[in-house]
Amino acid sequence: MAGNELESIDAFMEWVEEHHPNEPEYHQAVRGVATHLIDVVRDNEDYRSARILQRLTEPDRIISFRIVWEDDDGVPQINRGYRVQHSNALGPYKGGLRFDPTVCPAVLKFLAFEQLFKNALTGLNLGAGKGGADFNPKGRSNNEIMRFCQAFMTELARHIGQMTDVPAGDIGVGAREIGFLFGQYKRLENQFTGAITGKSVGAGGSEMRTEATGYGAIYFLEAMLAESGGDIADQRIAISGAGNVALHAAEKAACLGATVITLSNRDGVLYKKDGLSQEDVVTVKKRYGAGDNMSDIASSIDAEFGEGKAPWEYDCDVAIPSATQNELDKEHAQTLVDNGVKTIVEAANMPLTAEAEQVFDDAGITIAPGKAANAGGVAISGLEMSQNRLGRSWSRERMDDELKDIMCNIFDRTREHGEIDGRINYRCGADRAGFDRVAKAVLSFGIM
Ligand code: GLU
Repeated sequence: MAGNELESIDAFMEWVEEHHPNEPEYHQAVRGVATHLIDVVRDNEDYRSARILQRLTEPDRIISFRIVWEDDDGVPQINRGYRVQHSNALGPYKGGLRFDPTVCPAVLKFLAFEQLFKNALTGLNLGAGKGGADFNPKGRSNNEIMRFCQAFMTELARHIGQMTDVPAGDIGVGAREIGFLFGQYKRLENQFTGAITGKSVGAGGSEMRTEATGYGAIYFLEAMLAESGGDIADQRIAISGAGNVALHAAEKAACLGATVITLSNRDGVLYKKDGLSQEDVVTVKKRYGAGDNMSDIASSIDAEFGEGKAPWEYDCDVAIPSATQNELDKEHAQTLVDNGVKTIVEAANMPLTAEAEQVFDDAGITIAPGKAANAGGVAISGLEMSQNRLGRSWSRERMDDELKDIMCNIFDRTREHGEIDGRINYRCGADRAGFDRVAKAVLSFGIM
């Protein structure tokens, strides 16, 4: 018999926490989504009786495996790898791989859960998954990274495939790692198929995949500003991170005339009061990629370096957290509000703590949720899969147009589902629009 989980969000979360104990990140992600869906489900007899929302909180399966690889001193190192295959209701499992010491089931489950709604929002046929390993790539040689990737893929290969599960990159997994992973997959299967995305252009990859998440977030911001009569060229933008997403968001924003004042890493903030030029961003990209430290890079482009600081301490109109989950807390949020921030764009996945979100809500600040704003990356991954199946490569111009189109469609769906009492709640809209698509598909398959 169905329980009373849908009575209130707390009752629902009690049920979830009982089934998934000790996984705070997972609880945070589910609570965020369920808050926006519980009324929708309660009011829909089909959804309620089929217990759709409850079913969506349980991943199809979680694979966990040992990875043993040899470091440069010949010492065997042991790590743990995972793949969370959350749902293939809309297509093959799809989502990135993260190599980071913080990787654990709770983190990957939250990411795979978020991916479900994000991938649904793209309008493409993409299921949801996420994986990775508790491996720290920092300080490892190129050969160590290669051996690790090969050992990781030796186990993962049997669980993936172009129509089964298609991983891609995420934190700690960039073009180099994707190359090693795909190389090993190809060797094991003796087949060149699109079982991984984010491959380099010329080796089965798609134009614009590298830029897609960052550029897509800025396209989403443009659409959001247009809604309220704003212009990106008038915005002072603080961005956190110095990875693929942050750098490409900075590049596109600078190109459109915005004043991009910060980038950051664990050491501190690179701050340029009058804004980074496109050339500055290219310099940071090159030098940071080559392993230079942030304060040296800052002085080479006439920027300041705020050691130990966060980008959220500087005056801005738009804040774009682009680093990792829960990077922006309550105090940061309050500082941003006090300094007059107007818009938050989540380019990372779940970058705001629940308390930070509350501060922004209380202050009436608009938030572009990650599921919508950072969906450009996985969308272009989806189109990389299409190109691989067709055996064709589409041009850069075409991919940029596709990306703009998809981001505009995501924006429209999010706005449409998020309009409540004349105001738009984009977070609610993204969850409801994604859920609408997934729930209908799940219902059509019967009880399973
Ligand atoms: N890791 C990215 C994300 O969070 C991309 C996933 C993909 O391309 O499959 O959406």
